[in-house]
Amino acid sequence: MRIGRRTLFSAAHRTASPHVSADENRARFGVCTRTHGHNYVLTTTFGGARHPEFGWLAHPDHLDTLVETVRREFDHCHLNDDLPYFRNQAATTETIVGVLFDRLREEAATLVPDIAVLRAELAELPDFRAATEGEPWRDFIREYTFSAAHRMANPNLSEAENRRLYGKCANPHGHGHSYRVVLTLRAPLDERWGIAADLVETDRAAQAVIEQVAFKRLDADIPFFQTHVATTENLLTYLWNAFAHAFGERLHHIAIWETPNNLFEYGRAPHFQGAEK
Ligand SMILES: [Zn+2]
Repeated sequence: MRIGRRTLFSAAHRTASPHVSADENRARFGVCTRTHGHNYVLTTTFGGARHPEFGWLAHPDHLDTLVETVRREFDHCHLNDDLPYFRNQAATTETIVGVLFDRLREEAATLVPDIAVLRAELAELPDFRAATEGEPWRDFIREYTFSAAHRMANPNLSEAENRRLYGKCANPHGHGHSYRVVLTLRAPLDERWGIAADLVETDRAAQAVIEQVAFKRLDADIPFFQTHVATTENLLTYLWNAFAHAFGERLHHIAIWETPNNLFEYGRAPHFQGAEK
């Protein structure tokens, strides 16, 4: 069983690696080498066994104390100048979440010794976050949006059958969505730079994939959807294959929000495997 806690803190930082030159830092991190700030959102996942008598993994007050202890250390400070953790590494989302994870585990050992800190996920921006589960890799999570139209219909079926099967989604003139795609790359933390992926390069490669479907009528404009009904499940397969082509083994998970209420996801985690891509 897993439970989670979310907390917010505001902090300043400069993104620059102490292991490379100022010019190299500016080339990679741009304006982020200047001091600036974020409202960070930290989500922590805990795992453990239910207490046989009390029915919880841990006393809620103890979990709150744990999260608050770590939050207070980071809130309203300059990560580079006020804390000891970023003297020898860049203060990137990937390294900050790693430090937070280690601090949570340290504090948990005394405050909530019966449960495990399994994962920490840190959002630096609404469309960018990083996560760790204590391994040398990081999850690098980036969100993209695009608009596209589609019509769901199987060309082998009659118009009446398509109408019956796909309902309003079979409208011959199509309909559209503003899709939100959440891309997760899982890659080793590059110790020299403190990153798991280059944000600019990732965006460039991901946008090239997004451009294949953005402002298109999927079923009419893209050959794949002439042999695959333009469902969002099939769009997921199309995007998975395209992202896998761009990112190879680093591609770990993708989620598509077709509307704010409809989620489709696929990834390398064991519970996705065995299912047809
Ligand atoms: Zn920043």
